[in-house]
Amino acid sequence: MKFPPHANRMHRFDPSMMALVFDYMRERSELAEAPIDGLGARQALEQALEGLIAREPKDPREVLGVYVDSLSGTILSADSPRYYAFIPSAPTEAATMFDMVVSSASLQGCSWLEAAGAVAAENQALRVLADLAGMPPESGGVFVSGGSAGNLSALVVARDKARQDRQARGIGPSRLKVVVSDQAHSSISSALNIVDLDALIIPTRDGRLDAESLQQRLSAADLSDVIAIVATAGTTNAGIIDDLEAAARWARDERWWFHVDAAYGGAGMLSPRIRHLYAGIEHADSIVMDPHKWWFAPYDCGALLYRNPRIAKAIHTQHASYLDVIHQDDVELNPSDLAYHLTRRARGLPLWFSLAVNGLDAYRDAVEYGIALAQYAAERIRQTEYLELLRDPVLSVVLFRRRGWQKADYDAWSRAMLQEQVAFVTPTSWQGEPVGRLVFMHPSTTPEMIDEVLAPLAAEPGSQTSR
Ligand SMILES: *Cc1c(COP(=O)(O)O)cnc(C)c1O
Repeated sequence: MKFPPHANRMHRFDPSMMALVFDYMRERSELAEAPIDGLGARQALEQALEGLIAREPKDPREVLGVYVDSLSGTILSADSPRYYAFIPSAPTEAATMFDMVVSSASLQGCSWLEAAGAVAAENQALRVLADLAGMPPESGGVFVSGGSAGNLSALVVARDKARQDRQARGIGPSRLKVVVSDQAHSSISSALNIVDLDALIIPTRDGRLDAESLQQRLSAADLSDVIAIVATAGTTNAGIIDDLEAAARWARDERWWFHVDAAYGGAGMLSPRIRHLYAGIEHADSIVMDPHKWWFAPYDCGALLYRNPRIAKAIHTQHASYLDVIHQDDVELNPSDLAYHLTRRARGLPLWFSLAVNGLDAYRDAVEYGIALAQYAAERIRQTEYLELLRDPVLSVVLFRRRGWQKADYDAWSRAMLQEQVAFVTPTSWQGEPVGRLVFMHPSTTPEMIDEVLAPLAAEPGSQTSR
């Protein structure tokens, strides 16, 4: 037998490479404020990467140098306190550090057999989220890659359970429908497309799914093929929390699956001041909350919770002879069995570590700080000439209109703010019209930073485009 020589040369401990990478991580962590960084041009990036991967090895210093000098500056820092676009990210120090532990040992979290300690700790973190939502003690779930993966996996369960129930009741196959609002996240329509369910869309008046809009649309509709209702606890565009009680009532009366998409807004329940807005969430059959959004965990981490995880297990478990060994114990629920996946990173551990290290009060304060920033921004907008607040913020998103501005003006403002490293901010649309949008997530964002991004808007209409 002839073995290739030095086949493990990639796997030997290399103290100088470790020092190199650790030094970089330390430097990045020590920055008082992460730079926003900027956009990248494909040609320049391709030039920087040219020839880097070859048959022969390269010095780690050279490769890290390319990353630091040519790549990292073109990756916008979602963890900058000046990042107000999309949904920013602000992972805690503890979560970021523990993410390195997960990476350093290639920790996985598939099953009790393979990773009991990781599964138990992840479950402890999931319990915090489930308890906050008022789900029963037997509820449980799994950390998936994000809200999209969670919504898809939940809707698979809703669909298959409905199919089984309908078959048992002797109902023949037909196209099944799910009730959603016109503000549901894009991942919901994507998931419905994948699982081949039709959307029964409820038009909302002001972005909120409420008892009236449900009544209006559903009272005259044929509901015989409806199997589920999806409500949103914190729309991504505007931070609106649907009337979850009303959605829960329809679900109970019609025996539909009740799914709550709280990917962004779920953490708002940590604030006792707004907890009542989530009333009804405790009736959900499944809930999605993204720790990589307002639970201050690093990417990628979404939490999927089921009222009865055994239903999900029966549907999602993958069967293969080599996997039988992880299913011999039928009492414990394996994370792999609760969503559409098999191998999975123990991605709940950074959140678990951070929840324990920081305590829940710190989480409450950080979330309430984001809400307070949104209220501060709303107040400034109300006081500023030419600016118009579109709705009172409930969570940490603020929508506003700049009188006289077209889409191009908002785009110019966005570009200028990035160029000056004052903010990363992108416009959106509201009721068909381009508008400004600010999202606050980072507890290191200051009121002064908000003043800076709003300042250029206070100039006379028209003067902005000329800058
Ligand atoms: C962000 C978001 C999603 C999608 O989550 P990803 O983690 O980006 O996949 C779904 N629903 C809502 C309400 C969201 O805010």
